[in-house]
Amino acid sequence: MIKLENIYKSFGDLEVLKGINLEVQEGEVVCVIGPSGSGKSTMLRCMNQLETITDGKIYIDNNLVSFVKKGKDQLNLHEREAIKLRTNLGMVFQRFNLFPHLTVLENLTIAPQLVKGEKPEEIKDRALDLLKRVGLQDKKDEYPTKLSGGQQQRVAIARALAMNPSIMLFDEPTSALDPELVGEVLEVMKKLADEGMTMVVVTHEMGFAREVGTRVIFMDEGQIVEEGDPEVIFTAPQAERTKSFLNKIL
Ligand code: ADP
Ligand code: MG
Repeated sequence: MIKLENIYKSFGDLEVLKGINLEVQEGEVVCVIGPSGSGKSTMLRCMNQLETITDGKIYIDNNLVSFVKKGKDQLNLHEREAIKLRTNLGMVFQRFNLFPHLTVLENLTIAPQLVKGEKPEEIKDRALDLLKRVGLQDKKDEYPTKLSGGQQQRVAIARALAMNPSIMLFDEPTSALDPELVGEVLEVMKKLADEGMTMVVVTHEMGFAREVGTRVIFMDEGQIVEEGDPEVIFTAPQAERTKSFLNKIL
């Protein structure tokens, strides 16, 4: 569903991604771990076209969606079409980024209306159903500031799902939460995985990676150092860098 082919990304002189190759199949839950600054967020942002890559190719559902930036050139037609494919990817960030002036329900319905031109009546039922799935149907008319961090993050997940993405990307979705609120968010993510959603999850929650992940990727210094079955990565990592990272955090 996603294929990254030899992806390079630099910010000025700083090379952050150094030849990333990664394929994600339908129904996989790929958990990405690695030290801070290793390029995990940048990789997700490149997948989602929030960053333009410096070199390489990105395919979504076999469509080439990436292009290498050439100065300040206008995007051509293919490039503009490619960018539209980003709506196939839902993204959930560390900070929930809900729209504070909109109710919970409106947070879910706004993007389908504005981006996809759906009618409010059409999307409302789906939005209510999603709120039910994340256990927040009774909060539909609240404003985000009235909710706990965990509830806000569950709304953010429902909001991403409201666009009917075929892949969900999560960038440390529980890192900004008080410890007692982490579980409810992981529970929603686990349910989503059980329902067969294809997911790429950057996380420090090793328990989640081990239990829910179908594959774990260890990144360091802009490269994928090691990947494999969660059980194998956590109990018998091969690379020295993976071992020393896991020793520090486990
Ligand atoms: P991680 O998510 O693994 O902690 P990031 O992808 O956020 O790592 O960052 C990797 C490196 O890229 C870091 O050195 C970071 O400072 C740098 N970086 C990330 N985004 C930018 C940016 N927009 N401009 C300049 N440097 C950036
Ligand atoms: Mg990050």
